[in-house]
Amino acid sequence: MMSRAPHILVVEDESPLVEVLRYNLELEGYRVSVATDGREAIERVHGDPPDLVILDWMLPEQSGLDVCREIRRDPLVKTLPIIMLTARGEEADRVRGLGAGADDYVVKPFSPSELLARVRAVLRRSTTASPDETLVHSGLAMDVAAHRVTRDGQTIHLGPTEFRLLRVLLKRPGRVFSREQLLDLAWGRDAEVDLRTVDVHIRRLRKAINLPGTSDIIRTVRGSGYALAD
Ligand code: CA
Repeated sequence: MMSRAPHILVVEDESPLVEVLRYNLELEGYRVSVATDGREAIERVHGDPPDLVILDWMLPEQSGLDVCREIRRDPLVKTLPIIMLTARGEEADRVRGLGAGADDYVVKPFSPSELLARVRAVLRRSTTASPDETLVHSGLAMDVAAHRVTRDGQTIHLGPTEFRLLRVLLKRPGRVFSREQLLDLAWGRDAEVDLRTVDVHIRRLRKAINLPGTSDIIRTVRGSGYALAD
């Protein structure tokens, strides 16, 4: 059913292990991206949403457990499948990992085939029950996995930033997002981007999705931000 290669984000700071994971995952046909700490992981999760995250427990600064909790608290990405990696094998740690919201748990050292089996199993579960693969609102439809947007059946071409912005708005039609929130959600926390950049991309997004004869689907809320019109 999935026509493109599933995208897996590996969050691990030990480069030899990253290379082993990348090699084996790519061999299986997955697309792999890498983050080496929690902050980078969160940015990547928003910037180029993966289908699954392999998340190491031991990371510099923020632990993998904290990253897992942060993803689960974030309404935009909270259903993202997560497999935690850890050197700890104790039952208490396993319970903590799963309690933080991980879908599965693999103890180091593990064989590549063991991890790949878990990856396949978790991906299979998530694709049969993915709640937000298609976002629909008043004539707009976004197929998140295929990166395709239509309005009234007509294909709309969006740049990557406009796509992410629209995805944020489409997840909560009617809700007003401040420019700061849009920056956080569409660019990632700590992005070195001026707030006015949000206005520039909203303008581009409007131009792309407001076809001749259709109403403006993005509402500007003076002094507050933007919302998708009801
Ligand atoms: Ca590590």
